[in-house]
Amino acid sequence: MAQKEPTTECHDCGAAVDFAQHTLEVCPRWAALRQGLTSVLGRDLSLPSIITAMLGDDESWKAMVSFYETVMSQKEEDERVREEAADVASIRGQ
Ligand SMILES: [Zn+2]
Repeated sequence: MAQKEPTTECHDCGAAVDFAQHTLEVCPRWAALRQGLTSVLGRDLSLPSIITAMLGDDESWKAMVSFYETVMSQKEEDERVREEAADVASIRGQ
């Protein structure tokens, strides 16, 4: 089928996919942040264990929320910088 597939690429490490699990378990950018998370939740950051941990105790819940808040705000900031760079490029191109 000639279906156009949207390619998503992690802006941080160039991996072909950038979804929650990549950020959580794989992406090297968040290694330091991930360490804080595994110190609370344990080494297993697969989705089922995370959900179990988050629902199981408050500390895991908070660790997870803070991990995601940090990641999301960083990614938003990156996006803003990229947009600005694109604006500058298009202005220069005229
Ligand atoms: Zn990545």
